[in-house]
Amino acid sequence: MRIAVIGGGAAGFFSAIHAKENHPIAEVTILEKSKKLLSKVKISGGGRCNVTNGTDSLSMLAKAYPRGEKQLKKIFPTFSNKDTIAWFEARGVPLVKQPDGCIFPKSQNSQSIIDCFLKETKRLNISVRTETKVKELIPIEGGRIRLQINESEIEDFDKVIVATGGSPKKEGLLWLEQLGHEIIDPVPSLFTFNMPDEDVKSLMGIVVDPVQTKIEGTKLKASGPLLITHWGMSGPAVLILSAFGARLLSKKSYEFKLHVNWFNDLNEIGIRREIDALEENYPKKILQNIRPLQIPDRLWQFLLTKGNISSQKKWEEIGKKDKNKLVDLLFNDVYRVKGKTTFKEEFVTCGGVSLNSIDCLTMQSKIVPNLYFAGEVMDIDGITGGYNFQAAWTTGFFAAKLS
Ligand SMILES: Cc1cc2nc3c(=O)[nH]c(=O)nc-3n(C[C@H](O)[C@H](O)[C@H](O)COP(=O)(O)OP(=O)(O)OC[C@H]3O[C@@H](n4cnc5c(N)ncnc54)[C@H](O)[C@@H]3O)c2cc1C
Repeated sequence: MRIAVIGGGAAGFFSAIHAKENHPIAEVTILEKSKKLLSKVKISGGGRCNVTNGTDSLSMLAKAYPRGEKQLKKIFPTFSNKDTIAWFEARGVPLVKQPDGCIFPKSQNSQSIIDCFLKETKRLNISVRTETKVKELIPIEGGRIRLQINESEIEDFDKVIVATGGSPKKEGLLWLEQLGHEIIDPVPSLFTFNMPDEDVKSLMGIVVDPVQTKIEGTKLKASGPLLITHWGMSGPAVLILSAFGARLLSKKSYEFKLHVNWFNDLNEIGIRREIDALEENYPKKILQNIRPLQIPDRLWQFLLTKGNISSQKKWEEIGKKDKNKLVDLLFNDVYRVKGKTTFKEEFVTCGGVSLNSIDCLTMQSKIVPNLYFAGEVMDIDGITGGYNFQAAWTTGFFAAKLS
């Protein structure tokens, strides 16, 4: 049996290794269009490669995928984040979990992951061809698949796994659409919010953890740390919104209003109680010097100025009007977003080959027999935190069964 894996990235290597282990007598070849193998793994996680996430519950793991949650939930019990950890550790790559749940190689170097894959492919005698671009895929008689490679080469395979990664443009997926697969228009996911007209940027570097964020006029909301940057806002409370709202925010041309509850899950009544307590406990102190503890000092001064509330007032002098303004700012602070910025170059695509065209228990195409998919080429993507690689490992594991 001849097996071709198109794409020498995370999903390609993982599926090729498992395909060979599942079918030891088959000839397995990875075809990579560029000169470099595993180039995204190399730069991922700031060069450290966040291989997976350490969340304990499989349903929480699945919930990290705005696209693909339902399908991954069915297959995670067979190959989950725990299996990823065990797989790498069994191959001499110890991993460590950060307090935020992200899992990295103990070496803090993505090269450990690359070396592990290269060693495995060598051990299993998998051939790896670079500068080999697959241009067309033609189903032929006997269920075989003919690949048109580079300018003029043609090769036939019994099974083909497509692991070509996310394509920022739909044209990049035309060769798969022409075969009859439904393609969901790609749009970016995982981006930070630009706020060119907002003075809050002067607070760059401040982190408030946790806050609740919402996008006006939608049901989108998130909780987590929020980082103020020199161009706007970032951090999980923003990135989660960008992932779950990827398509909607694209339709809005990235212009919308962001609402922030600086007290995260406290409602208006709860926040008013906090403010009442400050007024009661520190009547003679001025607002500038006494603030709710979870609000960083610079943000507190900023909010007082934004609300036009004198910071020199004593707490006993705050009055009903200013108190209402303050509670409103802490509970529902509004910022105008205009544009987006890619998060640490970690561009991830929402969209790709529709899951309607794939049997998600086998990863086999519903259109072309013996054709399988793995990784980001499919309409599956996760939030930041190791989830995108986990999807590549799990779908690669399933595609490699070639069943
Ligand atoms: C800067 C950055 C940092 C990231 N950090 C993390 C992180 O720490 N943790 C995390 O979980 N996710 C991270 N991600 C996301 C993660 O890298 C991707 O989700 C993951 O690489 C997808 O794997 P893949 O194998 O599906 O695609 P890719 O890694 O994109 O691999 C696809 C490969 O296919 C090749 N190819 C494409 N078309 C063809 C063709 N026609 N013929 C032959 N070869 C072809 C490409 O050249 C490429 O090498 C990061 C992404 C970026 C850009």
